[in-house]
Amino acid sequence: MAEIIDGKKISQQIKDELKERAAVLRAQGKTGALAVIQVGADPASCVYVRNKKNACAYIGIESLAYELPEDTKEEELLKLIEELNQKEQVKGILVQLPLPKHICEDKVIQAISPKKDVDGFHPQSVGAMTIGEPGFLPCTPAGIIELIKRSGIEIAGKHCVIIGRSNIVGKPMALLMLRENATVTITHSKTKNLPELCKQADILIVAMGKPRFIGAEYVKEKAVIIDVGIHRDENNKLCGDVIFEEAEPIASAITPVPGGVGPMTIAMLMSNCVQSIEEG
Ligand code: NAP
Repeated sequence: MAEIIDGKKISQQIKDELKERAAVLRAQGKTGALAVIQVGADPASCVYVRNKKNACAYIGIESLAYELPEDTKEEELLKLIEELNQKEQVKGILVQLPLPKHICEDKVIQAISPKKDVDGFHPQSVGAMTIGEPGFLPCTPAGIIELIKRSGIEIAGKHCVIIGRSNIVGKPMALLMLRENATVTITHSKTKNLPELCKQADILIVAMGKPRFIGAEYVKEKAVIIDVGIHRDENNKLCGDVIFEEAEPIASAITPVPGGVGPMTIAMLMSNCVQSIEEG
């Protein structure tokens, strides 16, 4: 039986630590707000935005909501970001993705001041992470590192196989695992012999966006399995990229979906916000 890595519990511990740090900062007169911008009313985005606002309220950080209509022009959004860049009280700016098709996401990400880039997506943040300089780390990969470390799992020297090379999960995940001294293999849709490669992984991180794709044939005995995927199955139940009931009996530890990686993403966003307030 594998240990079930409890992302809900670990994210709650992190949020409680952040709440204390935010209270200490407040007592020193250091406060700040997270500006959350949503364009359009995509139902999944609405849930994510609401969760972010609730997390801010829990930790004791002000959140400012900007709900813009679907037909907002790119230049209007860029103008709002510039105004928020200039606002002293705003310490973090988050634009909920995806954006409507007529708005260029890269342009929007690059418009956010790197000092307020709490999502860690700005090229300057990515560059800093790549060369090991201080800066905001992208929330999902940073959350996975916390999840593994706080579960008492050693990373150094382990072979970590990552499925997926997106800019928000796979690629930064590889860099952070490398920083933790893992030996890293990155795989993607053109990779040959995926099951054989995955079967060599001490730590297998699955971020492919394919519901219940990874079964027993991908899992090494006693591997640690981190499932980043999040989907609704045909019964409207949440599931991951991993077939949990096949992987769990082989693994030594595994994240469930829901309650694994998901809650960590918001906890790390809050961590970046507190860091930004600390840095003034
Ligand atoms: P993405 O941009 O769609 O990237 C998927 C990656 O998986 C791509 O690199 C793709 O390869 C690779 N891939 C697809 N099919 C494959 C296959 N058959 N074999 C090997 N590799 C394959 O997705 P993402 O944004 O990284 O997200 C991945 C999953 O994580 C999604 O389910 C998403 O909803 C979830 N997610 C969860 C959280 C959270 O907080 N829990 C946060 C972010 C994302 P190519 O590059 O060759 O196309």
